[in-house]
Amino acid sequence: MIVESEQGLYCPEGGFHLDPLLPVERAVLTHAHGDHARAGSASYLCTPETAALLRRRLEGARVETLRYGERRTIGGVTLSLHPAGHMLGSAQARIEGHSGIWVLSGDYKREPDPTCAAFEPLRCDVFITEATYALPLFRWDEPASVAREIVAWWQGNAKKTSILFCYALGKAQRLLAEIARIDDRPVWVHGMVEPFAQVYREQGVRLAETRHVGDERGLLGELVLAPITARGTPWMKRFRSFEQAFASGLLRIRGTRRR
Ligand SMILES: [Zn+2]
Repeated sequence: MIVESEQGLYCPEGGFHLDPLLPVERAVLTHAHGDHARAGSASYLCTPETAALLRRRLEGARVETLRYGERRTIGGVTLSLHPAGHMLGSAQARIEGHSGIWVLSGDYKREPDPTCAAFEPLRCDVFITEATYALPLFRWDEPASVAREIVAWWQGNAKKTSILFCYALGKAQRLLAEIARIDDRPVWVHGMVEPFAQVYREQGVRLAETRHVGDERGLLGELVLAPITARGTPWMKRFRSFEQAFASGLLRIRGTRRR
């Protein structure tokens, strides 16, 4: 039902690729992260939430949507998308056809996340899973305690700017949602973070109030969320005195001193 092709995973009976690596005619996407949703395909099919994010990332792309649990017959198979718990709009693809029920997990997690629907276990004959972080080497910190740690770090930097680097899509919004639960101060954000935060809010996710850094300078005592790519660039020159930390893909935080 699902085979490997040069462009990535392919469903011959449905005539579509799943999270293709190269441009294809019809791409079914599990979520909006750049390593799953790539530009150049003729059409995309994904959840409405992923579509809203995709329109910011891939301008002009032809995107059709399928709500969680909605079934669509494509060629000889029936496709439906189900919550994967990874980020806003993230889905597992369930494909039903002559060779039974196959599920492609995409990225997923089972812990609660205020920014997306919870992972839905699905009965299936074949489960194709992403397992990047399944090694025992990776340990997961509880997100609520990470958020408390961030807020404490921010409070400790009263006379400096606290700059927290993270992925601009997904991780940044997750942090803004966790912070909103324990602190009502606004968080300053880099221009790459804000458009996605806007989409999350439009989709009903409660985030901390954000302010765009823009031409603002100084920002002593404030928390700033910025993409990892902004680190060490001229953009940083606006901050006179700061501490920096990283919230990685694993939500672990590590502080570094300014040299
Ligand atoms: Zn992802």
